[in-house]
Amino acid sequence: MSITVTNVTKLYGAQKALDGISLEVKPGEIVGLLGPNGAGKSTLLKILTCFIPPTSGKASVCGFDVMEQSIEVRKKVGYLPENNPLYLDLYVREFLAFIAGLHQMKGNIPEKVNGMIELTGLQLEQHKKIGALSKGYRQRVGLAQALIHDPEVLILDEPTSGLDPNQLSEIRGLILEIGKRKTVMMSTHIMQEVEAICSRAIIIHQGKIVADDTTQNLQHMAASRILVRVEFSSPVHGDLLKNITGVLDIILPEAFSEYKMSNENAPVPGIRDLSPKKHHPESNVWFLSSSPERDIRAAVFRFAVENKLTVLSLTREEQKLEEVFQELTKR
Ligand code: ADP
Ligand code: MG
Repeated sequence: MSITVTNVTKLYGAQKALDGISLEVKPGEIVGLLGPNGAGKSTLLKILTCFIPPTSGKASVCGFDVMEQSIEVRKKVGYLPENNPLYLDLYVREFLAFIAGLHQMKGNIPEKVNGMIELTGLQLEQHKKIGALSKGYRQRVGLAQALIHDPEVLILDEPTSGLDPNQLSEIRGLILEIGKRKTVMMSTHIMQEVEAICSRAIIIHQGKIVADDTTQNLQHMAASRILVRVEFSSPVHGDLLKNITGVLDIILPEAFSEYKMSNENAPVPGIRDLSPKKHHPESNVWFLSSSPERDIRAAVFRFAVENKLTVLSLTREEQKLEEVFQELTKR
């Protein structure tokens, strides 16, 4: 195992930041540690990187115990802490060489620094002071310092927080690329990030694990209804679609987000129609809902054949991880 955590509890005074956490991460996994602010994410990552000790329980990285063999753990782990603390007065190259020195790296240090600069796309910024860099490039420096000693496990604490959309997708791309060769555990409170990067998500809430599964399984978990998107080659009146067996709601594309917001939790019995009918009595594209145990796609096809309609596409909408997250972490 790359990471093993067994019954770890962390108290800050009387406050329980972690409450009996256990988990295992296999080599090569990219795991998202998801949770609202104050859930205990940073606390867990600080324990795994030997920055703070657990109050009780055991944690190990690549088989080395964080308490007994902390030097070995630090050799195996690259860590990008929350808020990415950097020496703003140092030059990029100087800083990376300094970090290489801390790791007591042998061999050609400038060459290693070059490698990191190339990997993280810092070529144009390498001779600047860190303080002169944009947030996105500082984040790249943070990743470079975490990677310079070629660790097996990468621990990233909210690596994309505060980035603009372009920087965000660049850093996510970089993490995905790096993740091909390393075990990654990254914390975030952004659901889309886990969907975009991680194969597995661990959701923590008030110091406890409330879910630990593949991203895909989690997306299906809290499904209170299944949504199917259907596109016909010609406009179809909504009233017709209501007759399909198993269909609960019919929703026009323009009313779709409103629909999703309106009934987050409970399945809605009967037929509701949020479509602004007066203006859009017909549409090529419709969303149809059904109860989770029912797959209405076959019925939609039969309906199309019976009514001499051509179906251009018929797809099941994925339940958004965000909904699962909200469901699991509300009080
Ligand atoms: P997250 O990273 O998920 O936002 P943290 O692990 O930072 O959560 O914090 C978990 C809880 O522990 C929070 O309630 C926080 O206020 C508390 N906490 C974190 N660090 C300390 C500390 N050094 N001293 C006291 N309380 C702390
Ligand atoms: Mg945190």
